Amino acid sequence: MAVAPKLHHFIAGERVEPSSGQYFPSTNPATGELIYHAARGNTADVSAAVTAAQEAFEDPRWRNLSQTRRGRLLRRLGDLIGEHSEELAQLECRDNGKVLREMRSQVVSLPEYYYYFGGLADKITGDVIPASDPVILNYTAREPLGVVGAITPWNSPLSLTSSKLAPALSVGNTVVIKPSEHTSAAVVRLAELAIDAGFPPGAVNVVTGLGHEAGQHLVDDPRLAKISFTGSTVTGSHIARTTASRFIGSTLELGGKSPHIVFDDANLSNAATGIAAGVFAGAGQICIAGSRVFAHRAIHDELLERVATRARSIRIGDPFNADTDIGPLAFEAQRDKVARYVDEGRSDGVQVLAGGRATDAGLGGYFYEPTVLVDVDNDMRLMREEIFGPVVAVVPFDDEDEVVRLANDTEYGLAAGVWTNRLSRAHRIAARLDCGTVWVNTYRNIAPNSPRQGFKSSGVGVEHSPETIREYTRLKSIWINNDEGPLADPFVSRAG
Ligand code: NDP
Repeated sequence: MAVAPKLHHFIAGERVEPSSGQYFPSTNPATGELIYHAARGNTADVSAAVTAAQEAFEDPRWRNLSQTRRGRLLRRLGDLIGEHSEELAQLECRDNGKVLREMRSQVVSLPEYYYYFGGLADKITGDVIPASDPVILNYTAREPLGVVGAITPWNSPLSLTSSKLAPALSVGNTVVIKPSEHTSAAVVRLAELAIDAGFPPGAVNVVTGLGHEAGQHLVDDPRLAKISFTGSTVTGSHIARTTASRFIGSTLELGGKSPHIVFDDANLSNAATGIAAGVFAGAGQICIAGSRVFAHRAIHDELLERVATRARSIRIGDPFNADTDIGPLAFEAQRDKVARYVDEGRSDGVQVLAGGRATDAGLGGYFYEPTVLVDVDNDMRLMREEIFGPVVAVVPFDDEDEVVRLANDTEYGLAAGVWTNRLSRAHRIAARLDCGTVWVNTYRNIAPNSPRQGFKSSGVGVEHSPETIREYTRLKSIWINNDEGPLADPFVSRAG
């Protein structure tokens, strides 16, 4: 039997073995087979990565690089990602089980992040503030923070890492990434491509490892200037407490329980497609999964049947197969968690209209059928907690006030879908929804130039768009007195 390869950290521009010599296994979730052993990062490894990032940050060759040249490096990295898109898509597909078709389309759009923030790099300016005294010049400058820690989950490692890496580098920070223990390979390769693109060694580092070890050590390193985290609300809250105690910033992109609202005037075929794509794609491992569907009573039964029919027609299987629609959950415990929510619902009287079963799809992996639930109560755990699997519940409503109340009755506030052909209603409902993104007659559109932010327990801070630059810079106000004459003295008595 072939020996599984070893995946090392990437520190100061080189693949580095773990100082402890310890590794942990990474398996293919479609088959349960071991794919590689990843370096199990400890305090010493994290410390070495932060030291490399700090030295790179302080190195005049990086610090004094013009913003235009920094932008050029980002665009070169975008080009390299494009040239290696197939390799990156395959690495990610093998690690997290998302179908290759979906990974390919995600990776093909990845360079856009680097082109966008590369283009923005030399358009980031300060302001001249109108001063009340004509001899005073008051201006502001945006400065990089220093070493940024980026911690990411397993579901879309490359794109979620790029949402942090591209803006952080564009303004002159350096970065240490801790990817999910389930999906390290593509992120290490991305860091390697950054060095190939011309970023100095130490500008982009990756420490692989476990959340409570490498992740925690990174969060605890006092030299970090900021943490940018995407992951669960529980871990995000823990990180927020730590960063607050050190007075450093954090950007937190957390969980969701996003609603779809389908009115009786909507195009039901499009609504069913948007709902199915928004919760079953990627086996539902999408932070913006629209897992609660509120359907107007007049069209409830028809919509339910359409969504259930879509769910039953989805082909589960080998993510590398072109005929497969969805692959497995990323690891066994996640599949079991999804099954527990549905089983608990069943015993509370929930009806399962489609799916509702774990399967190995004949491959030995951790699959779960696309599942449609009815007769749910808004107080049930499956309606309140993030399942992060291919499970959707459909609930009837009668009027706008009721559905806005139901949709907002959640601790989360990530996104929502509204399906209606009435323009005034679309605007009215979008304004009343308590979440960071609202899609009308579409779902899951994301772009590097459009802000994305979770409200309530779904996060703090903005990713994407020029707004995210604030997250990776600090604002300095500089006051210059242009008058060389005597300075106005506020004291009556004078020494001499
Ligand atoms: P987790 O919070 O469990 O993990 C996220 C990352 O944090 C992983 O790299 C994990 O490492 C690491 N981690 C875990 N514990 C610690 C710790 N104590 N200190 C530092 N790092 C730690 O989330 P999941 O991986 O389960 O990801 C799924 C979640 O991500 C869902 O809630 C989903 O909604 C959310 N998400 C949010 C998005 C958004 O934009 N709002 C986008 C995509 C996902 P390890 O993997 O080794 O445990």
